Amino acid sequence: MSIIDTHCHLISDKYGDFESLRRNSLALGVCHCITQGTDPHDWEPQLELAARCPDFVSVCLAVHPMECLAVSDADCERMAALCRCHPLAAIGETGLDYYWPAPEGHSEEDYHRRQRRLLEYHFALAEELALNISLHTRDRGTAHNCFDDAIAIARNFPRVRPVFHCFIGSPAQADTIFEQLDGMVSFTGLLTFRKTEAVQAVAAAVPEERFMVETDSPFLSPEPFRGKVNIPGRTRYVVDKIAALRGCTPEDIAALTTANARRFFRLPESFVSPA
Ligand SMILES: [Zn+2]
Repeated sequence: MSIIDTHCHLISDKYGDFESLRRNSLALGVCHCITQGTDPHDWEPQLELAARCPDFVSVCLAVHPMECLAVSDADCERMAALCRCHPLAAIGETGLDYYWPAPEGHSEEDYHRRQRRLLEYHFALAEELALNISLHTRDRGTAHNCFDDAIAIARNFPRVRPVFHCFIGSPAQADTIFEQLDGMVSFTGLLTFRKTEAVQAVAAAVPEERFMVETDSPFLSPEPFRGKVNIPGRTRYVVDKIAALRGCTPEDIAALTTANARRFFRLPESFVSPA
């Protein structure tokens, strides 16, 4: 099986020995990872890791929405410069997060406005570099709807395709992503948790060419490892769960999500060795 973990964070103080991480992944059928940058401190280490292990790691760079107040314009310019001179799979992880309250001293309104401005910056950069974009969106209740705000911004950049990572939205939201943005969704180990029937139903029904798999490691370890540090190899558990939901084999899900990921992130054929 050749599975691609399309969203993880390999630069993390949770990880020690990278070689054992890689061995464990390969043993579970996970042959490639797309590591996502989130802040100025991890951009260079992410790039170095991908340069050192190009067969196993591809990289995306961005500012995570929850870092939006910590970055300066100069940081953003430095990120753009790095993006212009390194091979990237996409721009990511960026997006909008209205779930967590604004940091002290900032109004909710300002915090969200700053996130939207930064997201527009990322979309413009993706458009300039002919890359797609990896999005985080998380809402609190329905009072503030960051999903709709993200859709509105994405519509202004029709040449950039978004993937809504760790998708937990409704079938109607998935349809909006597919029909209005030519976008994708990706599913995490959250599908293996109790009380996630709604998103399981989405994973069972989305069109074959519209979804990918990921761990979001070191976060979101699937059952039976919930609460532990997650590792890319456990994308296998997401694949197994979706196969069960869709009534097909893990090999089928691995093959189609790998083909989707290879297209969306424009990965060279050589990055995914047949196994
Ligand atoms: Zn993430």
